[in-house]
Amino acid sequence: MNTPALEVRNLALAYDVVFRDGIDLRVESGEAVAILGPSGCGKSTLLKTILGAVTCQVGDIEIDGQSVRQLPIDKRGVGIVFQTPMLFPHLSVGRNVSYGLERQGVSRDLARARAQELLAWVDLDGYANRSVDTLSGGQAQRIALARAMAIRPKVLLLDEPFSALDDDLRQRLATETAEKLRAAGVAVVYVTHSRDEANAVADRVIEFNSLGRPVTL
Ligand code: ADP
Ligand code: MG
Repeated sequence: MNTPALEVRNLALAYDVVFRDGIDLRVESGEAVAILGPSGCGKSTLLKTILGAVTCQVGDIEIDGQSVRQLPIDKRGVGIVFQTPMLFPHLSVGRNVSYGLERQGVSRDLARARAQELLAWVDLDGYANRSVDTLSGGQAQRIALARAMAIRPKVLLLDEPFSALDDDLRQRLATETAEKLRAAGVAVVYVTHSRDEANAVADRVIEFNSLGRPVTL
């Protein structure tokens, strides 16, 4: 059997209390899994644990078959898009996108070229020199997506990425994004509280109950 891009094994006890039963999750490259569940059930906590910003007392996380438990955020090959874009206000749109690469020591020219490529990928060609405060909500989230993809992550986490947008735009961006990510071959974990959105974006939907336990359908 192939090694999955992401394997979460018996992950339990974030903040001492969330996920009492242990979470298991396996996502292949090019596959998108949606996590659906009510507010407070632990969706964001699960993503932050995979990212490396929260530690669980129990369990392991493997990326491409290697445990990342001891690795810091920037060594895991994981990208994340939050509910709000959280762009750096003092950097241009292009520098926001190339930020992760510049931090890795990639030359300014290469980072700029990769940013151009990603701006085209999110249909915002020509936006590199703009200030981030000129962007609409939907545009800003697409820039956040481009920024997260700049480092060519193995695993991309999206935490209710379009929930602040109007329904029509949310559904459209969610569907377009899922297509792009599938074509990019990254493993995707997509958190949402909308069943429609989950069904639209994901190959597989995992539903949590209010206690953070997977619901067996
Ligand atoms: P969701 O994203 O599904 O709405 P969260 O993962 O944000 O839920 O929160 C899950 C549970 O973890 C909630 O009970 C929340 O209060 C708790 N929690 C979230 N962040 C922290 C924290 N920093 N310290 C302690 N408990 C937290
Ligand atoms: Mg959340």
